Amino acid sequence: MSAANNRETILQIVETAQPFQVTLAERALIRELLTIVDSVGGTTAVSKRALLAAAFDLIVAAEYYRSVGHIGWVYCPEPAPALYYPYTNICPRCGLDNQFHFHAANKPGSGIIGRRTSRLLAHFLSELFTSKGLNVAVLKGSEPIDIIFVDQATTPVTVMFAEIKAAPLLTLPLHVASQSLIIDTDNETQAASHRVTDFSYLFGTQMNLFVPTYNAQSGSWHDKTFPIGIRQDVHDTEWAYRGLTKLLIEDPTFFTAYAEFWAASLQAYGQRSQESVYWLTNACGHPSPRPDSWPARRTGSGYETVSDGKTSVGMDRTDDIKKAIYQVIKLGSDGKPVEDLKFLVGVVSNIHAVRHFEDYLASLKDIIWTRSTSAQVRIASDLAPDTVLYNLFDGIIAITQTFSRDEWINKVFDF
Ligand SMILES: [Zn+2]
Repeated sequence: MSAANNRETILQIVETAQPFQVTLAERALIRELLTIVDSVGGTTAVSKRALLAAAFDLIVAAEYYRSVGHIGWVYCPEPAPALYYPYTNICPRCGLDNQFHFHAANKPGSGIIGRRTSRLLAHFLSELFTSKGLNVAVLKGSEPIDIIFVDQATTPVTVMFAEIKAAPLLTLPLHVASQSLIIDTDNETQAASHRVTDFSYLFGTQMNLFVPTYNAQSGSWHDKTFPIGIRQDVHDTEWAYRGLTKLLIEDPTFFTAYAEFWAASLQAYGQRSQESVYWLTNACGHPSPRPDSWPARRTGSGYETVSDGKTSVGMDRTDDIKKAIYQVIKLGSDGKPVEDLKFLVGVVSNIHAVRHFEDYLASLKDIIWTRSTSAQVRIASDLAPDTVLYNLFDGIIAITQTFSRDEWINKVFDF
């Protein structure tokens, strides 16, 4: 394709692209989080980028909490009896002490997660650009383009097509206090142990977020809770968006406590620490050591995990990385060369490939390419002197970390 034709095609795709849908409650939470990150930045050891990525996980959490139900809670007897609604396969409070009580996680299916997370990431980035005073449009592409960024303020106009690979590091379990459950048999009373328990009074009851907090004196993580509000009824699916926004406004200690837990969890995830908060992160794998009571897999052989290794965190799933590499090559080779347009391609995520960057991306990030029908090209001077070279990835972009070979990306995605 000629550079002029490619320009036409790209501009046509941009013209027909639609904005991502967003509700008022979603937008209010995103804006409140960005305000809080601005005010907290510098007052905690957590970097600005980590604060932003932690904030994004809270938005995804509000999305997950849309579908919290009466079923799927685990009863934990001690120290204070409570019900938890966990997102990894354990009682979260006991997991902090490396005690594993199996309870099936309440995660939505991976197909749903991908779509919802992509939409929210698009909005988050859009609001983030606005807060930085940038006027970058964020649009929904159609296969094979996930997301389109357009900056009319540059000359020529900048258009970036990108693949989104996004998923949360963790989702805070929900908590409600419980009576101490007893089992009464033949006039003998026993305290109940961990068990699957329905939460009959879900609608209309105040729920809390379970936020582990670090106690420097004991050197360990303890359970702490913050009120997140009330789901009124079956139609009230935005309850957590409202509840989180209110909590952020009313309790300035919440976000800092949460962000410190989140940052420690990211480190534990990267190091595969097998300790405490690690067991609340996605893709944490098998319990270690595995207790005798730990169940075998419901399907297939072997044992259940606390969170499946295939669960992605950001762009860190190897299958996702491989797919993203192809998509970026395809978008780049279809669209370049192009004239009178700055056309970029990349992959966008909330969290960089923490575990797999070295093995899967490090050797690719500096690749540049061109086209040649000659089989005789060995060194650059074998090409015509005006041969244009292109980046394989103009950017491997995440809220937590960005690798880029382009000034515009460096500027726009500098958080
Ligand atoms: Zn427990």
